[in-house]
Amino acid sequence: MNDKKRAIKISPIRKGTVIDHIRCGQSLKVLKILGLTDVEIRDVVSIAMNVESSSGKKDIVKVENKEISSEELDKISLISPETTINIIRDYEVIKKQRVNLPKRVSGIVRCRNRNCITNQREPVDPEFKVISSEPVNIKCIYCEREMKEEEISENLL
Ligand SMILES: [Zn+2]
Repeated sequence: MNDKKRAIKISPIRKGTVIDHIRCGQSLKVLKILGLTDVEIRDVVSIAMNVESSSGKKDIVKVENKEISSEELDKISLISPETTINIIRDYEVIKKQRVNLPKRVSGIVRCRNRNCITNQREPVDPEFKVISSEPVNIKCIYCEREMKEEEISENLL
């Protein structure tokens, strides 16, 4: 498929964010992270799944009038580390960046160990060390329980 055909699938937007190179099948989770699964969304959201690209298949999400917070970026990096974020203004990409998988994540994922101190009634935020990116694997700094991609996306806060 050539570039022209691919461009037709996702029409340009005046202002917003194009989230590209999402791992196949993760686009709905990205929408959930962005709080866009609500029925009351006013802005246009487009999703393309299993799009052919030079580096294999990918998903794309396009959201009008949406700016992504750094917390949302960290969450996306955990479920799809190769994702790129394109900020659009007046139909032009004014900023393009790849999500950055941090070395530590705090307060965005719940530990899956029910007995972990972060799941007790203690004022302790869950915190993890990122131990691998391919596949993503994180380790709780309190109970040392490891969590893989599927568990991470199920436990996003
Ligand atoms: Zn833990």
